[in-house]
Parts: sequence; structure tokens; C-alpha cells
Amino acid sequence: MRVRFAPSPTGFLHIGGARTALFNWLWARQQKGTFVLRIEDTDQSRSTQVSEQAILDSMKWLGLDWDEGPGVGGPHEPYFQMKRLATYDRYAEQLISERKAYRCNCTKADLDVLRSQAQKEKRGFKYPGTCREKNLPRGTPGAVVRFRMPEEGATSFKDLVKGEITTQHKELQDEVILRSDSVPLYNFGAVVDDIEMRITMVARGDDHVVNTPRQILMYQALSYPLPVFAHLPMILGADKQRLSKRHGAVSVLQYRDEGYLPGALINYLVRLGWSHGDEEIFTIDDLIKKFDWAHVGATAGVFNPQKLEWLNQQWIKSTPAEDLGPQTGTPAAFVKLMQERAKNLNEIRDAWAAYMAGELPAVYDEKAVAKQLTAENKPLLAEARNLIGEHFAAGPAAMEHAFRALAESRGLGLGKLAQPVRVAVTGTTVSPPLFETIVLLGKDRTLRRIDAALEKIG
Ligand code: GLU
Repeated sequence: MRVRFAPSPTGFLHIGGARTALFNWLWARQQKGTFVLRIEDTDQSRSTQVSEQAILDSMKWLGLDWDEGPGVGGPHEPYFQMKRLATYDRYAEQLISERKAYRCNCTKADLDVLRSQAQKEKRGFKYPGTCREKNLPRGTPGAVVRFRMPEEGATSFKDLVKGEITTQHKELQDEVILRSDSVPLYNFGAVVDDIEMRITMVARGDDHVVNTPRQILMYQALSYPLPVFAHLPMILGADKQRLSKRHGAVSVLQYRDEGYLPGALINYLVRLGWSHGDEEIFTIDDLIKKFDWAHVGATAGVFNPQKLEWLNQQWIKSTPAEDLGPQTGTPAAFVKLMQERAKNLNEIRDAWAAYMAGELPAVYDEKAVAKQLTAENKPLLAEARNLIGEHFAAGPAAMEHAFRALAESRGLGLGKLAQPVRVAVTGTTVSPPLFETIVLLGKDRTLRRIDAALEKIG
């Protein structure tokens, strides 16, 4: 069992591409098959090193490791199409010698004339086969290679997701498979590589459904058994339009930078096109065990950033603090305080920088200061300081108990006493449980912060 992911390095890895990679990867891992990564860099004007690196980085971050491909090598090297031109040439020559393909030296101007004629007559343009019987030799200046499509009949295949799909051959034309500079067009490059790399299943976005019958005819012309095909529906925005930047982040690396856990993004992406009863949360191991093609939906998934955020929160809650510590650059003990509330890892990192890292809070929320650090609250804050000094050693519960007792004796709610302390200690009114935070800060640093606040009040 061999599957592949074949991105074109013409942009970052977006979440649709990531889902395609993920389904292939899950299937390979479950079936103990091989997951091949191939870079389809034949569009030289749009392919960049930066995009290629972004794709590799995205896959590594998601944990979608490949068994063959860039950086890993493998028996079918190289895994970059631009380094495989000799192979496409060889296959094209074979097809030409069997009269299944031919050279064509029609110029762009020739074809433009035909195209505008078709337009005038309000019919679709189709290459009329001008060069079919010319037997133009190798070396014909400016010649491309065209595939000889059958004119009659139809090609059908059974897509694992979409079911039976039939295309009438009269809808196809003798398409170019190799340009005059020896660079293959997508259909031919993909077929040759999938043959050479012994791919047994092709799972990709359904924008390629129209290509599949043409590819099937090429497999047949090359006498190679067909792989299984599975075409994954697109991901749409809430407005049912094709997902794009205006629906929020679409690049995998942007989610990494916004503090998402790779597992959460994977969990979200897999559920966007596949279901397992009404389960929502899956570990990666679960997914490897449970993923199947029968439950991949044939209709487009609608991207829901709120659900992704919710899942991220669930993942943050259930990941051991010891693992999140290194990822956030904060001690596990602080992660534990934040885990219940953080929607992303950046919130943990930012909270640490805001009020845990330094001697005093790095930022004071002005509104919170104006409301809580008032002359009226000053005596309360001073009393709270004494309570912390007295009860710190006995732990958070003891400090809370002392606070409650004091508040009660004054006929106040706990908040009236605790909020000024919270602002003094963290600079904000939104922070993890106060007494645990105080414990983590340490007694001396906490008292110095309260002193600083008392001074601020003046
Ligand atoms: N390079 C193609 C793409 O990125 C690959 C399609 C395929 O998987 O065959 O759309």
C-alpha cells in the first residue's frame, strides 16, 4: 500500500492541502503502508524555495512524517519533478513510438485563430488534431508532445468518496503532456511519477476529478494497473464560498504561530470530512485506528473557526502541563494554572510575560488600576498584604480562608477584597486563581508588588 501527497510549492500549505496530506498519512499508518511526499515544482514561475520550505515545515509541525521524499530519500529519488525530466522524456518517447502520442508544432498564433473561430461559432475550443498524422521527429523546433485521446466511448471509474464517475471521450482533447522545453504538464507528470513510485492509491482534492479520466487513459496507454482514486470535497467558508483568507487563517503555519496545538488542528481537519459516530475528540492514535474511507463525506465541509478554537482548548486541557511547558517557555506549574482557561498557547506565553516573568507586572491594565487601586481600597489592600504575609506558608486554601473571614467581618464579598490584590499582583483582573498565582510568584515578590501598588495609590 503506497500513497502520496504531491503539493506544488506555489504557496503556503493551506488547511485543505493539510487535510489531503492527513488522510493519506492516516491511511498509510493504519495500513502499515508507505507515505510518499513528492514536490510538483513544474510551474517554475510560481514555485519558490520559500513555499517549499513552508510546506515541509507545516507537515513536520503537524507530525505528518513521510517515508520517502525530500530530506528522507527513498528508492524512487529524486522526489522533485524538475529533477525528473529525463524520466518524463522516456515515457513520452515510448508513447510516441506506440503512436499513443505525437509531436505537434502548431504555434500559439495557429491555435489562437482556431480558438477565436470557435468563439465566434459559440462552440467550445478543442485541439483538432492537426499534427496527429504528421509523425514529426524528435528535435522538431518548438514541438510539444500531445496525448492521443480516444474519440469514441467513455471512461468510468469508481471513486472511493464520490462513487462512479463517467466521462465521455468526446469531451476530451489531445492535450499537451510535454512542453517544448521538456517540462511535463500536470496530468502526465503525476501519472508517470505515480507509476514510477508504485503508488496504489491516489487521494487528493476534488478539484482534480476532471483530470482523473485523462490520467486513467494515460495509465492504460502505459499498460500500468490503475491506482484506487479518492477525491476529497473542498473546504468551504461559512458563506459556502471556497475557503480563502477572508474566512480567517488558512495557512497551517499561521495556526502554529497563533498558539494552536498540531493535534487540535489535525483533530479538527479530520472531522471536517470524516465522522465516527458522534465523537468529536480523537487522539492521533485513535485516528490511526479508526480512520476509514467509508465515512469520508462526499459533500464539502464548512470551516468553523470557533469549533477549531474550542477543540484547541480541549486539547490544551488534556495535554500534560509538562509537555506544554517547553512549548510555551513557561514552567509546568504555571501551565497548570492556565490550562483550564487558555484558548491557545500564546495566551499562556503572554500571561507569563505580562505578570510572572519580572519583579513587577510588565503591564498594568489601566482600567483595572483605575477601578481597583483606589484610595478607598488602600486600607483593604494593606490588610490583605498582612494576611498574605501571615498565611502564605500555610498554602492557597489557608490564604483564601483568611481572606473570606476578613471580607465577612466587614460585610463585604470576597471579590471586593480580592480584586484589588489581583490587580496589584498581576496588573489585571483576568488571571488564574489568585492564591495559586501568589504561591507561584513567591511570598516576597507578591508583597513587593502589593507595596508597589500601595505606593502607586499614594
Ligand atoms: N500538485 C497537485 C496539486 O497540488 C497534485 C495533485 C495530485 O495529488 O495529483 O494540486
